[in-house]
Amino acid sequence: MKQVKRRKKTLRTFVQIFFFIVIALITVNHALEEKGMATIPLFASASTHAVCPFGGVVTLGQLFTSGTFISKIHESSIVLMIAAFLIAILFGPAFCGWVCPFGTVQEFVGKIGKKIFGNRYNRILSPKIDRPLRFLRYVVLLWVLYSTTVTGKLIFADYDPYYALFNFWSGEVAISGIVILFIILLLSLLVERPFCKYACPYGALLGLFNLVRIFGIRRRDSSCINCKACDKACPMNITVSTAEKVRNHQCISCLKCTSEAACPVPRTVEFAGGGKEA
Ligand code: SF4
Ligand code: SF4
Repeated sequence: MKQVKRRKKTLRTFVQIFFFIVIALITVNHALEEKGMATIPLFASASTHAVCPFGGVVTLGQLFTSGTFISKIHESSIVLMIAAFLIAILFGPAFCGWVCPFGTVQEFVGKIGKKIFGNRYNRILSPKIDRPLRFLRYVVLLWVLYSTTVTGKLIFADYDPYYALFNFWSGEVAISGIVILFIILLLSLLVERPFCKYACPYGALLGLFNLVRIFGIRRRDSSCINCKACDKACPMNITVSTAEKVRNHQCISCLKCTSEAACPVPRTVEFAGGGKEA
């Protein structure tokens, strides 16, 4: 059983590292090409915006009203946006838990935080403060959609820590983006995925798919021994132990709570379709 658990964990880590490297190489290649420097052979060149499905979302307003894209956004973002939406209908925000390189970076910094703060890591904020803060990302989402549509510019790029992470060395990143990146990395030592939880506009949008997703986290009450291992394992602090079907808008489909990863009772927390909601 331990071996299966390790294999599942390794698979997600492998997928996360794979996407991190691919996105990093593509965006570095783009910056090198822009500067007229030698690029990495055999590797595509595209801006961070062109390989981000959220670029497709923010350009929709302009696309519908004038038939054009926001500057720096291309068809590729629309294709990626549709693919991410289809995956989200089936599996929820798997993009956040498995693909997004900025989620991966926060998670890896969090491993250091876990070593420093032990059991207090990711449990520092009281639920009274934490719960309402989780809705802040919807405010960010509305602001980004509104300001991008009104100005026709990628306003969020100046504040986006994901963009800053991959482009800080290029001289094209606003100081606000660098500062936010630095703050998020520091916060990641205390809280798991702080940007995903409180500020990511794309995470907010994908999080809504948790309400309608076909496959999700199901808990079998009849075999549950109420040990709360699933709650402790959840990076998003979701109380899995009281749900029959997780519909929380913050779930990132990481599968860390399942019987194949955390729950000690086989076939009690599973990733499946159907089931009663709680
Ligand atoms: S641990 Fe389970 S409930 Fe928590 S985010 Fe991951 S899949 Fe969702
Ligand atoms: S880890 Fe499994 S047994 Fe423990 S509370 Fe969660 S569902 Fe129940």
